[in-house]
Amino acid sequence: MKFISTRGQTPPVRFSEAVAIGLAPDGGLFLPESLPDISGQLSKWEKLSYAELCFEFLSLFATDIEPSVLRGLIEKSYATFSHPEIAPLKKLGAKLYVLELFHGPTLAFKDFALQLLGNLYEHQCQRDGRSINVLGATSGDTGAAAIHGLLGKPNTAIFILYPDGRVSPLQERQMTCTGAENVFSIAVDGSFDDAQAAIKTIFGEKDFSAKHRLSAVNSINLARVLAQCVYYLFAWLRVPARDRANIEFVVPTGNFGNVLAGWLLSQMGVGVAGFKVATNQNDILHRLFSTGEYRVGDVQASLAPSMDIQVASNFERFLYFSVGRDADKVRAVMAQLKATGGYTFENLNTFGFSSSRASDADITAIIRRVHANHGYVIDPHTACGFQDLNPDRVSVVLSTAHPAKFPDAIRAAIGQEPVHPALEALKSCPIVKHLLPAKVEAIKAFVESRAV
Ligand SMILES: *Cc1c(COP(=O)(O)O)cnc(C)c1O
Repeated sequence: MKFISTRGQTPPVRFSEAVAIGLAPDGGLFLPESLPDISGQLSKWEKLSYAELCFEFLSLFATDIEPSVLRGLIEKSYATFSHPEIAPLKKLGAKLYVLELFHGPTLAFKDFALQLLGNLYEHQCQRDGRSINVLGATSGDTGAAAIHGLLGKPNTAIFILYPDGRVSPLQERQMTCTGAENVFSIAVDGSFDDAQAAIKTIFGEKDFSAKHRLSAVNSINLARVLAQCVYYLFAWLRVPARDRANIEFVVPTGNFGNVLAGWLLSQMGVGVAGFKVATNQNDILHRLFSTGEYRVGDVQASLAPSMDIQVASNFERFLYFSVGRDADKVRAVMAQLKATGGYTFENLNTFGFSSSRASDADITAIIRRVHANHGYVIDPHTACGFQDLNPDRVSVVLSTAHPAKFPDAIRAAIGQEPVHPALEALKSCPIVKHLLPAKVEAIKAFVESRAV
């Protein structure tokens, strides 16, 4: 299996290379050259554990990794989860399920991809005898999940920048109370955008980034998307067979990465009724699916901060299919988006995606209602998924974070704070963070002195 770029100007590469380089050299995103048809395997896969299913699925793509090695990497990745089923499917009603994706080390769905990515990086370091230094900026969840993916791994170091004082106290603790010597959490004096801009400049300095073998862990990495396909499949196999064709997966989304993974799976012969993109008040994707216009707006802080995004970086993968796999057309659309901040699609092929939008007031009301009706506490991101459920479908709402990560929003809605033992334990651990100005030279000097 080889992987091609959405912009059509990169020769096809194997899995390991696509994972190692992240973004294709032509600026595009990697996708499988062709999507396998797995419909004939599904009945055989019904009884598999999460890790076994993940192995069967990823074997179709990671054809350049020795199967026994791949199996080991996958087992190790999901052994860090605290629930025996890894991604338990909870039934809340005759036509309503919640897929709990928050049992990993940082209690958010990003662990599914980043635990695996960390182990893939470790394997690559071993295989080619080199070290790797990961550098990234975060406004919260991604940084914590990336750190926990690489925690304590030999020949790796991870440098995560975040805006000092502007991430939640629990998120900061997840990044700074790790006790690991290869983790450098850097609180910068500036905004997330300042940190991001500094990092972009550093990656642009080819000598520096090559010398330290710098790598980014962003949401466009191919391994992240493929790892995320697996929990859709796992959930599909757990819904009674008679209901499967009527499933609508509802996905709280910002970067489009999560829902895209589910949609790709559906293109491999896993029949469902559709997908719903659930946004918060930063609703660029809802506007796209309801009007055909994709236009970048200003980001407004919401109760669901991990979805406070206006540029959906995985959108380009969807676009590629939507324009009939025409890489020239993708380049033209992306160039216009870059130049003007918008694009209006005539007859956009939406592949049946639906969408919804939840304001902060909706989020609070939904958390309260779901608690009253089902005795179940959801986090503010998951709450967006409960907006305007389609009564004709069997809804499977993806729960992207544990509610204990957002105690203030939950208390405001239901008057009590959920707790999680992993977060309680963090409260007594020492914080180790490095304060730096959001300046390229200062960050480079820090990386230079600590890189492996
Ligand atoms: C990152 C994140 C999201 C958004 O995921 P995308 O892949 O960007 O769509 C939603 N909820 C939580 C809790 C997250 O951490």
